[in-house]
Amino acid sequence: MKIIVRDRISGKRYELDILEEHTAKDVIDVLVEERLIRPSPGEGYEWILVDPRFIQIPPNERVASRLSGAGENEVFLIARFIPGNESLKPSILKIEEYNPDDDVASRQKLIPNWDQELLKKTHVLVAGAGALGNEIIKNLILLGFGKIYVVDFDTVVKSNLNRCVMLRTIDVELKTSKAEAVAKRGKELDPYGYVDIIPIVDEIGLQGVNYMHPVFAKNKIDLLLGAFDNIASRIHLTIIAYYHNIPYVDGGMWGPFGNVFVMMPPTSSCYVCSLSEDSWAEMIKRLQCSMKDIVENVEMPSLPTTSSIVAAIQVQEALKILFSKKNADKQGLGEPALGKMIYFNLFTNDWMVYEVPKNPSCPVCSNIGRTGDAPVTMASVSFKK
Ligand SMILES: [Zn+2]
Repeated sequence: MKIIVRDRISGKRYELDILEEHTAKDVIDVLVEERLIRPSPGEGYEWILVDPRFIQIPPNERVASRLSGAGENEVFLIARFIPGNESLKPSILKIEEYNPDDDVASRQKLIPNWDQELLKKTHVLVAGAGALGNEIIKNLILLGFGKIYVVDFDTVVKSNLNRCVMLRTIDVELKTSKAEAVAKRGKELDPYGYVDIIPIVDEIGLQGVNYMHPVFAKNKIDLLLGAFDNIASRIHLTIIAYYHNIPYVDGGMWGPFGNVFVMMPPTSSCYVCSLSEDSWAEMIKRLQCSMKDIVENVEMPSLPTTSSIVAAIQVQEALKILFSKKNADKQGLGEPALGKMIYFNLFTNDWMVYEVPKNPSCPVCSNIGRTGDAPVTMASVSFKK
């Protein structure tokens, strides 16, 4: 059992390694000796160096621990009276000073309700390794997400380089795939040493990574992040999200305009809810094609400033979903914008958040989500009359 205590005056932290079977008395003796606690007459002992949460340990009780959710290795000390344990021979193995400068995550762990271990265990799939995908993956790596799958069928071209922080000129010369280039550079960036980045050189779509792809096998992916430049790919990923019940945070941009849409299957509205019946009918025709036929040669105005902001909002919403899922009783990092569109215009500084109403006849979230059936072909999904 490890206990980290923090001196609220100096900010120094101490790491205590304590054998589980040790009695509180022995632990307390060492803590007194180390001047971490002092006797408080009539009230047991008082932590003199730590967070106010760890105020007292009554004497002669066994030290137990439980995760506080405050971060890796941070535990509450709680005392529980267990008769007959006086004969146990506990000893503290070591008390070491914890230096936050030696911990990559030390600054983000200061955010209330932060849980680095949870991030380490989380598997994310990022669909698209262009401007948004690069920024999203950069953020995921710096935050310390454990496993990142990156899907993109495209290769790097020179015009990607103004807004893709992880692509290089050499990738253009070698015609490297975007997914592979991002995985390689991402690994160089990883300050934790544990972030696993797995490239999937394919498209999101019927003929590529669809809802039956092994990457979506049970509980493998906790979160989807969409970084597309077209509607068809978004619909395909929405179907995957609602079929497998995976939260999906989509991002989009055009010049100075950015938008983020947050989906939580099966309850929230989905991307398709926001489409009109006519646009759906037109998409059906295109959805049966390969994405490669649709996406290639698409040119739109794009700024690295816009993509940074869109990706930052996407990853922040992803954090909110993760942390609020784990701590339903707590606020986590705030409430995720489920079923909501976050929209901004960097030219006018207009920012808006609006709710996308759930369409009761939506072919995706009111059909797939409810029945558990996925469409065999996209054309088999249609608006119910
Ligand atoms: Zn829907």
